[in-house]
Formats: sequence, structure tokens, C-alpha cells
Amino acid sequence: MYICCFCFFACQQTPKIQKQPSPQKEIQSKKEKFSFLDSLFTKNATYKATGFDFPVGKPNAKNYYNAQSFTENNHLGDDWNGISGGNTDLGDPIFAIGNGYVQFAEDIGGGWGKVIRIIHQYKGNYYESLYAHCDTISVKKGNFVSKGNQIGTIGNANGMYYAHLHLEIRDQIFMDIGSGYSQSTNGYIDPTLFIKSNRNESWQK
Ligand SMILES: [Zn+2]
Repeated sequence: MYICCFCFFACQQTPKIQKQPSPQKEIQSKKEKFSFLDSLFTKNATYKATGFDFPVGKPNAKNYYNAQSFTENNHLGDDWNGISGGNTDLGDPIFAIGNGYVQFAEDIGGGWGKVIRIIHQYKGNYYESLYAHCDTISVKKGNFVSKGNQIGTIGNANGMYYAHLHLEIRDQIFMDIGSGYSQSTNGYIDPTLFIKSNRNESWQK
């Protein structure tokens, strides 16, 4: 009898509690995040992106090669390596691919190491560039950067790999860090294709 009552109330109440609109809450906070960025880039219009360059061997990735392209082995980014191989590129500069706002710059350890995430407002849309396994980080959350500014150096995620830069470009900007690999590329775009297609400063919509 007691058990039945308990079940009855538990079943009645649990869905109510779970129905508290957390998805709606998330949408709201996403809206708030976008309106924060909208006003940020309106006030600091010089940091709107006008075009993109490669993050190494400025501006054309000179003396670097892409060792693992976007979607190769389900890779969600590009892996930039110095042409001399091994750790010869350890400590080389990493440059912001475009004007933007540093959203995140921290050592999160594991397979990621030190990670920098930059938000770009470009032709009215938002993109994120993500730079991983850095040896050093020279920007902080809240900084503005211009295209070609040095933001850190190439690392090996505290010895996990040969030094290289893992670069992602996302067209959904509030996603979790992810795993760097997935069969689904939803929210991710081909970094090399994107940079090559958006180089021209004077390009106007
Ligand atoms: Zn990678």
C-alpha cells in the first residue's frame, strides 16, 4: 500500500520536475550570448573579420603541410605540421586566422592541451576558429585580435603527439569542445576550403 502510494506520487511528480524547460532555458541563454556578441562587435567594429589567412607560415602556410585534412579519418579539423617533421615546429608561432574575439584560452589537458577559441563575426555570420595542443598561449579570454596577430605557439599537448597545430573552424559557435573526430561534421567546416574561399579583404557581399 505504501509502496503503491509512493510510486503514484513519484510518477506524478517526476515528469513535472523534468518538464522544467531546460531546453528553452538553453535557447534563451544562446540568444543572450548572441546579443552579447552582436553588441560587442558593434562597439568594436574594427574587429569584425574581413577575410582569413592560414594560422601558420603567415599568411599562406609556407613551410607547413596539412598532415590530416578535414574528414580524413573522421577528423574535424586540419593538422598543421612543419615540413621538416617531428618536433621541428615545436614553439613556432600560431596566428589568428582573422579578426575576432577570444572566447576561451585555457589548458584543458587530456588530448587537447592548451586550447584557444576565437569568435569571428564575418559578413553578418558567426564562426569560431579553434587552435589546439598549443605549447604557449599569449592571449586571454576577452581579448580582441586582428588577423595575423600571434596568439600562441605550436605544441604537443604536453607530450602526447609530435608537435602540430590542430585547427578547427566551426559555423556553430556555442558547441562543446568535442572530441576532434566524428562521423558527423554538423557545425564544422573545412578549414582550408573556408580560408581559401575567404581571403579577399575587399570582397563585398
Ligand atoms: Zn587534429
